[in-house]
Amino acid sequence: MKIHEYQAKELLRAHGVPVPRGYPAFNLREAQEAAQKLGGAMWVVKAQIHAGGRGKGGGVKLARSAAELQTLAGQILGMQLVTHQTGPQGQKVRRLYIEEGADIQQEYYVSLVTDRATQKVAFIASSEGGMDIEEVAHNRPEKIVTEYIDPLTGLSEAQARKIADSIGLPANSTAQAVELFQKLYACYMDTDASLVEINPLNRDSQGRLMALDAKFNFDANALFRHPDIVAYRDLDEEDPAEVEASKFDLSYISLDGNIGCLVNGAGLAMATMDTIKLFGGEPANFLDVGGGATAEKVTEAFKIMLKNSKVEGILVNIFGGIMKCDTIAEGIIAACKAVNLSVPLVVRMKGTNEDLGKKMLRESGLPIISADTMAEAAERIVAEVQ
Ligand code: ADP
Ligand code: MG
Repeated sequence: MKIHEYQAKELLRAHGVPVPRGYPAFNLREAQEAAQKLGGAMWVVKAQIHAGGRGKGGGVKLARSAAELQTLAGQILGMQLVTHQTGPQGQKVRRLYIEEGADIQQEYYVSLVTDRATQKVAFIASSEGGMDIEEVAHNRPEKIVTEYIDPLTGLSEAQARKIADSIGLPANSTAQAVELFQKLYACYMDTDASLVEINPLNRDSQGRLMALDAKFNFDANALFRHPDIVAYRDLDEEDPAEVEASKFDLSYISLDGNIGCLVNGAGLAMATMDTIKLFGGEPANFLDVGGGATAEKVTEAFKIMLKNSKVEGILVNIFGGIMKCDTIAEGIIAACKAVNLSVPLVVRMKGTNEDLGKKMLRESGLPIISADTMAEAAERIVAEVQ
């Protein structure tokens, strides 16, 4: 799960990581009030969307007067902000963050991410903050340093000092950097984050450090113990089909092709998509109904799938283990009747009660194409949508 920058900064603030003062604003009046509360003579108007690269896309602007703030807030609020992370269609800006303008001396990059290979949290840092870290990683990989944190001891002072030194932080900022890095690590662990990225971490002319941007991803499996973080969820930022699917406890991922895939289990989903691609097709999504799906759940899955106008054919690939093939057949038949199926449907079922399931489909009178092997099923659906 992702959250907005202003929410991320609330979490950082609560953990003692310095961030600029700021207020979210949902309309122009609130933007003006935010600037009044902040005082000073320089504010930053920041579009709040769940994507990075906002600055380059025109979603982060500096205002030096109340009138300018009003104009910029008016331009950004409601705009369709396109960044390298939103795709060409962009994302509509519904919230702003009004923040005090920082005195920028140098921008650094720091992030924490769970590294599966070492089974540790990786602390990644660079002197080249404020820009695309992917670009730095590609063109100047020597500018990026990584430290792996021992889960038993946490981020040690020596390690934090080493990171500060290796990104060239001047001596008068080291003590603050060590404290900030340790608090950032504590925040990462406390919130069950899977990513925390501060880009940029600013060093001002006095040597003081402050997070000017903040991005968090959270491990969805741990959200049950963080109701305060779940409350940050903004459904406007999520794919409507994925939101709908999550209501029925279905995992749904939108993709770019035209073949809808209904499967049980993420491993089978990946194998199914690979097979479709092998035969020259492109999946439109993958919808995982999980191990214990009911006929109702399968019906909902079909409805979600068919809402996507890109879907020109559906491949159902089910392994009947705990889930019996006749249950799936019942769901498919009910769904076809409920949604008035208008695209070709290929079904491949293997496992418990396979024969009964196939018989039910055959006798349903519905135009369902049955396939025995995965290859046959994929080849058939690819042919149907061409
Ligand atoms: P994004 O990464 O989505 O482009 P950022 O929050 O990193 O958004 O903002 C882009 C750039 O704008 C930063 O690298 C920084 O130079 C500048 N910036 C952001 N917040 C402030 C602030 N409070 N004061 C001054 N400059 C800022
Ligand atoms: Mg940034």
